[in-house]
Amino acid sequence: MPELPEVETVRRGLLRIMVGQRVERACLVRTDFCVTEHGGPPRPQELLQGAVVTDVVRHGKQLAIVADSGRVLRLHLGMSGQVRGASGLDLATLTHVHAWWRLGRPAAPRRTPGHPGLVLFRDPRRFGGLWTHASMDAVRAGPWAALGPDALSVTTPQMARGLAGSRRAVKAALLDQAVLAGVGNIYADEALFRARIAPARQSGRLTATEVVRLATSIRAVLRHAIAARGSTLRDYVDAEGKPGRSQLRHLVYGRAGMPCPGCGRRLTSREIAQRTTVFCTHCQRRS
Ligand SMILES: [Zn+2]
Repeated sequence: MPELPEVETVRRGLLRIMVGQRVERACLVRTDFCVTEHGGPPRPQELLQGAVVTDVVRHGKQLAIVADSGRVLRLHLGMSGQVRGASGLDLATLTHVHAWWRLGRPAAPRRTPGHPGLVLFRDPRRFGGLWTHASMDAVRAGPWAALGPDALSVTTPQMARGLAGSRRAVKAALLDQAVLAGVGNIYADEALFRARIAPARQSGRLTATEVVRLATSIRAVLRHAIAARGSTLRDYVDAEGKPGRSQLRHLVYGRAGMPCPGCGRRLTSREIAQRTTVFCTHCQRRS
């Protein structure tokens, strides 16, 4: 499932492909893939048809495409969603394309050389989706108000507030999007290993120093993964259709039974918060 680094990599690609371009045509292939603020089927302008894209914003694992009309399309990649530049040939040959947008420069309809011409949203497993909003304020006051701080810039006080008084495992807290937006199974395991904290520790019982270490580790793990253009384990590709390289640098995720990069002992795997969790019983403190 794409986590923050993968979604951020897609965002950066979409900035290059979409910003400054007019949406000449927006097409929703599957109407049940899009939820509007009025509950009915989306009108073309609600899918940004006719508007110029001015920005692509991210919070946690969600993206918002902002247009000069003020309108916003919010999207979530779910388990296997891909939002990427495409050509007419891609559109004719790719399966599971639920929506697409044809782009053109506002001043001259001819596009710059090398521009893909289209952006498409495909999602084989259909856990992703599209939502229309009247404005960015409506997104921030609505669905994004329910999310915790963005994990890429989470501060120690924000992290401390998210964990305080909770008896659940710190791994479960990190996966809770209302506590911290953007972290999933991969980067939770990686951050806890770097912070030397056992994943089953009670959230509310971490020391102040450990909370500092955890917030620092989360930001560092995500920054490094973005620099490697995200992790590709299954379906993930960026907005240019390319896989990421971050999976080659994972220290613990997916490495159960292999030697710990810290001490050389075998890494342990256990189910915590209903997710397979890999950690080192020697390097990650249990109390
Ligand atoms: Zn170790």
